[in-house]
Amino acid sequence: MLNLLETTSDDLKQWLRERGQQPYRAAQIRQWVFQQRAASFDAMTNLSKRLRGELAEAFTLGTSTIVSHHRAGDGTEKLLLEFPGGGQIECVLLRDGTRRSICISSQVGCAMGCVFCASGLDGVERNLTSAEIVEQMLQLARLLPAEERLSHIVVMGMGEPLANVDHLLTALEQASAADGLGISPRRITISTVGLPPAMQRLAAENPRYNLAVSLHAPNDELRNELVPVNAKIGLQPIIAAADEYFEASGRQLTFEYVLLGGINDHPEHAHELVRLLRRRSALLNVIPYNPVAGLPYRTPSDESQREFRKILQEGGLNVHFRQRKGDEISAACGQLRRVKPTVVQTIATRSSQT
Ligand code: SAH
Repeated sequence: MLNLLETTSDDLKQWLRERGQQPYRAAQIRQWVFQQRAASFDAMTNLSKRLRGELAEAFTLGTSTIVSHHRAGDGTEKLLLEFPGGGQIECVLLRDGTRRSICISSQVGCAMGCVFCASGLDGVERNLTSAEIVEQMLQLARLLPAEERLSHIVVMGMGEPLANVDHLLTALEQASAADGLGISPRRITISTVGLPPAMQRLAAENPRYNLAVSLHAPNDELRNELVPVNAKIGLQPIIAAADEYFEASGRQLTFEYVLLGGINDHPEHAHELVRLLRRRSALLNVIPYNPVAGLPYRTPSDESQREFRKILQEGGLNVHFRQRKGDEISAACGQLRRVKPTVVQTIATRSSQT
């Protein structure tokens, strides 16, 4: 069976032609899938019953089951999805003013092994298919009222997106296509641990999206401890590949820095960061650590956060301290798979969607 979520408009037209159908039907079908967010072919009432039947025989519109659905007081909603191919992943809808941002996963688990992160504790199980990546977008869009649209996408859920770059890019085509979700590439951000060959490939072939690089340390010694894959890569090649991406895209870079109390939050680390990043068109996104049950890391005190920020700002860096959203439902990072939240309104459990 084919999956409509990873079928291009041209392929769909071809399929229609082979069945004696008009190719303009492809636009109607895509309108149902991406704008109306239809979860079944039955809903596509401007198509003949016969065509709907043929579509249902040939294509699926998604394969996931919603294992759980949580909503926090600030409007953040989080879905835990299970795919028949194996594994559970999570994805999040964040509401901020008129923004409707989603955070999506790229793999089941993660192989990068960042020591403070919940997603990689059991390693990586598999890459998500592009349809599975698109399906997260649609499942989250279906949580919105009909008149609202998704406005932003960050690929910051479970997994390392640049370790699954082909499927990711196919999925982001559907997200950004005018007859897909119609989200401008300028509002789509790929977050990476920093894999230079894939960053260089993106710069050469597809520099349309925003790139965020997860730094977490200003020198190799500390980064090798926090982000074990760094030992084989090193900071300098990562910064050089990020610069290359900036050259190709013209898009301001983001560097992410998860602030871990007593580990990477010393004033000297802030000074080193200034030396590493100054004179770049970059935003430094500092994320106070969101504690993970069972891991020995903690959020720094407000005072040490303030001091850290002051040094960065005095050093001339463009700094943003990220507001945590969805904390109470563990939506800030890959935790729902592990910790079943308690302080939440659980909306649905185990409802099959398609
Ligand atoms: N693998 C990619 C994308 C997924 S992680 C990457 O490394 O960028 C997205 C971001 O969330 C990364 O910066 C990651 O380090 C951060 N993160 C992971 N666990 C966290 C936690 N417990 N608290 C705060 N940020 C976390």
